[in-house]
Amino acid sequence: MCYFFLFYSSPPTLWSKGVFKGKTAESNAGKIMPENIEVSVSSLQSVIDCPLCFWLAAKGLAPPSFPLPGVLSRIDAIIKDYMKQFVGRSDLPAWFPAKGTFLGATGKLRATDPSSGVTLKGMLDAVVLTPDGRHYIVDYKTASPREEVPDYYRMQLDGYAFLLEGNGMPVAGGALLYFTPERGDLSEGKIPFRITPVRAEVDSRRVLRPLMQARKILEMEEPPEPKDGCQWCEWRGAMGKVVK
Ligand code: SF4
Repeated sequence: MCYFFLFYSSPPTLWSKGVFKGKTAESNAGKIMPENIEVSVSSLQSVIDCPLCFWLAAKGLAPPSFPLPGVLSRIDAIIKDYMKQFVGRSDLPAWFPAKGTFLGATGKLRATDPSSGVTLKGMLDAVVLTPDGRHYIVDYKTASPREEVPDYYRMQLDGYAFLLEGNGMPVAGGALLYFTPERGDLSEGKIPFRITPVRAEVDSRRVLRPLMQARKILEMEEPPEPKDGCQWCEWRGAMGKVVK
């Protein structure tokens, strides 16, 4: 689901008037130029989930962003600060998903798929350099752990693997590191977090199809069909008949 319906009036009209044609359009989904398409790792799943959402965002019709509740941003910042103490260390706690030297976050990485010509971009939460010289992907999540990595997170890990390999860093695997609030003694003024690694098999080749699909979608002059059964688009259609 996306929230573009708030602003989605008639993209075909905008397109046919040449508002976007031949110009650069930037959005959360990526940056379009005639020969250069960039897609962020975080938007890869939307290529699969709803081509219309992806197409609209790339045309500059991304939904307005909803600010995260302050407490979530605060938790995120605290987790990242906490993890910084391990950077450069190999004596990692037992809950670390891989053995090796913790390298912490990467800078922004880009890698281009020669077949589609699409460039993927993103920044990893953390990487562990394993004893055999490969790189283990670690992505932080503030949530309750699932037994298996869900498809949308697997796509994210695959995208990170593509970025590392495309920059000459072989990949050993990947994991989500869940930080889950637990019941605790609030009289001490603290909420404890349980840390759980959930490992996944990663494969950078799985992003090739969505990258090719991204190019095809972004080259469409007419918007793709909405996702079947998406209640938000149906609601938007109904609203459009009432609110002009
Ligand atoms: S069908 Fe419409 S509301 Fe639903 S995800 Fe796609 S573009 Fe967004």
